[in-house]
Amino acid sequence: MNPNPPMVDAMPLSPEPAAAPPLIHIGNLDKSFAGGAVQALSGIDLDIAEGEFVSVVGPSGCGKSTLLRILAGLDGYDGGTAALGGVPITGPSREVGVVFQAANLLPWFTVRENVALPLRVGGHKGGNSENIEALLEISGLTDFAARYPYELSGGMQQRVGICRALVRNPRILLMDEPFGALDALTRERMNLELQRIWQQSGKTVMLITHSISEAIFLGDRVVVLSPRPGRVLRELKVDIPRPRNNDTIISHPSYPALAREIRHLLTGQGEDA
Ligand code: ADP
Ligand code: MG
Repeated sequence: MNPNPPMVDAMPLSPEPAAAPPLIHIGNLDKSFAGGAVQALSGIDLDIAEGEFVSVVGPSGCGKSTLLRILAGLDGYDGGTAALGGVPITGPSREVGVVFQAANLLPWFTVRENVALPLRVGGHKGGNSENIEALLEISGLTDFAARYPYELSGGMQQRVGICRALVRNPRILLMDEPFGALDALTRERMNLELQRIWQQSGKTVMLITHSISEAIFLGDRVVVLSPRPGRVLRELKVDIPRPRNNDTIISHPSYPALAREIRHLLTGQGEDA
């Protein structure tokens, strides 16, 4: 008899190491509202690897925000799988930061206090004032740290919102049309800053946007959803080197065909139309 029987949790010997699960896994996901009367999402399949930047576009009402809310643990789902790091999502996680279209800053708090808010609310031990100062610095907000939201432009308010989402150092950043309310030039600057923050931090980002150019500018991939009920029509890889900038991106040889294909998918004309 073997005097040293193997422990039950011993690692099995396998010829190949198992591949790590994608950081975000969505499999055959269904979601409806109003007791099933409104089907928002139907059979969504989407995997996002750690460190990847994925843009999601789709017509209004196709379920983009619903998808993001499910990933943020703010909404449940009816069928299929939604998992982070292989663990099914059952509620909000501190691995996830969320940015919505409106920054929703607290008007009686300064910029610094607004950024620090999740640390207070969550009773989180990991965050510290160094992290706050570093985020303010990266976002060009250091000089405005003691100002109040009403003293800031829309672009600056949105940057505060992004800092707030990052302050607990989440691995995943989910963004729902974060720059939709900004003017075109501010939006271009924000795109550049987001690219820089993403490249420096190595975070995994899912960005929902209405802008085809923004989706291509920022994404490693662009996922195009169908009209409601949303399903994945196509995933397009963006093979344009980084760092990208607003002048060079549109002159890259891949850009026009990508933009055209996304536009055709969104308008229901198919890629050959
Ligand atoms: P998108 O962000 O792509 O514009 P949403 O995810 O907000 O779309 O909504 C998808 C569909 O689900 C829409 O038809 C919307 O009216 C419906 N919906 C979203 N949230 C709710 C809710 N809480 N109750 C009922 N219907 C909802
Ligand atoms: Mg939405």
